[in-house]
Amino acid sequence: MTIAVLDRLLSLGQSDAIPDRLARHVRVTNALALLGAAMSFGSTPLDAVGAPFLTVVVDLAATAAFVSCLLFNRRRHYFAARVMLMLTANAAILAGVLQVGAVAELRTVFFPLVLLPFLVLGTSERGWLFLFVAIPIAGYFVTGTMDPPPPGLAMTVYRVYAPVLTFTMIAAGSAVFTHVERNAEARLLQARARAAQGARLVALGEMSSGIAHEIKNPLAAIHLAATQIAERPDQPTLVAQLGEQIKRIVMRASRIIDALRLFSRDASADPFVAAPVERILGDALELCGKRFTEHGIDLVVDPVPTGLEIECRHLQISQVLVNLLGNAYDAVAVDSVSERWVRIEVHADRDRLELAVTDSGAGVPAAAQARIFEPFFTTKGPDRGTGIGLSLSRGLVAAHHGTLELDTESRNTRFVIRIPMVQPPR
Ligand code: ADP
Repeated sequence: MTIAVLDRLLSLGQSDAIPDRLARHVRVTNALALLGAAMSFGSTPLDAVGAPFLTVVVDLAATAAFVSCLLFNRRRHYFAARVMLMLTANAAILAGVLQVGAVAELRTVFFPLVLLPFLVLGTSERGWLFLFVAIPIAGYFVTGTMDPPPPGLAMTVYRVYAPVLTFTMIAAGSAVFTHVERNAEARLLQARARAAQGARLVALGEMSSGIAHEIKNPLAAIHLAATQIAERPDQPTLVAQLGEQIKRIVMRASRIIDALRLFSRDASADPFVAAPVERILGDALELCGKRFTEHGIDLVVDPVPTGLEIECRHLQISQVLVNLLGNAYDAVAVDSVSERWVRIEVHADRDRLELAVTDSGAGVPAAAQARIFEPFFTTKGPDRGTGIGLSLSRGLVAAHHGTLELDTESRNTRFVIRIPMVQPPR
């Protein structure tokens, strides 16, 4: 129960729409703001007894300010929350020294605050990072010039309390960091799984018109054959021929349905087993091959050496090929491209399989080349592109200890998959 409440507080402001790095910073800010609020509030009894009355007011103000960081995050004012956290932490120590006097131990609390910006700011916020590193350092030196504590203050308590505070802040900071890192990793895995499922559905959606065609055509052919049989029941040779034809058509339609079923399945838990390369290509082509021929695109598949097998999750490699073929189709099926072809090459040596998909399209613009593997990067506009195909495909190939790259040396657009023939032992 307490854990659930804590987790909810730490998750304030989290959303799928924000990048992972920011999500991490938001969570760290929440955790440290909670810690700061607990510490300021926890100091009030001590300060009420041993320090000037204003110190208690400072404690309560700091508690409120730390809580406001959580509220800022909740309202998605992420930057304000982080700045507030760092300002409050520094101001609270400064105010403490102003009230109590320049106690060396109290001033050392500025040290852990130097680490704070590294926990909540990104490298792109370098200016702010420098500023919030400089503030506690300046705080330490400025407070050194202040008056020592007036006689009569219960200093022993503070001399013990300050190091405890410093130690707690460092320990809690690193604990929070580790927790958030672990949490972020889990989130990333979940997001990847969701994206993978999404990408498969998107790819299926993109292929749906082709698939409808694949099913509709055989149905029409079966209908025609059945009509002929009904009209000529007295011609056994013709009936037998038409029967054979129907059988062939049904077999093909059922192969397509099998491939579809296969493709919409999550294969991330499948074992790596030896699979014929021919079958990997066959499954991919079963789904999207027709689309090419029907649009006058020459789809050339290099002969696959007989008996060539590779240890893999064969469905995932087929999924990567379908993604690459889908992109190749999009690149060549435009009016501005007059010569329309797509080629699949297969090369294998003892250690490695290389599958390349090349197309005669206009190519990847130089400015986009560095970004095409980023998740959600697309040049196809929101209605047509999702930008997840290549990033996901690269992830699937990487899970096979392989690489997926754009061949920048090639004259045409060429994507190359390289996978070891045998997976290294885990
Ligand atoms: P999507 O296809 O949904 O845009 P991808 O991740 O598959 O997402 O591709 C990202 C981008 O890479 C595409 O928007 C396109 O700009 C570029 N790209 C991928 N394949 C090709 C290709 N064969 N020819 C030209 N550009 C390509």
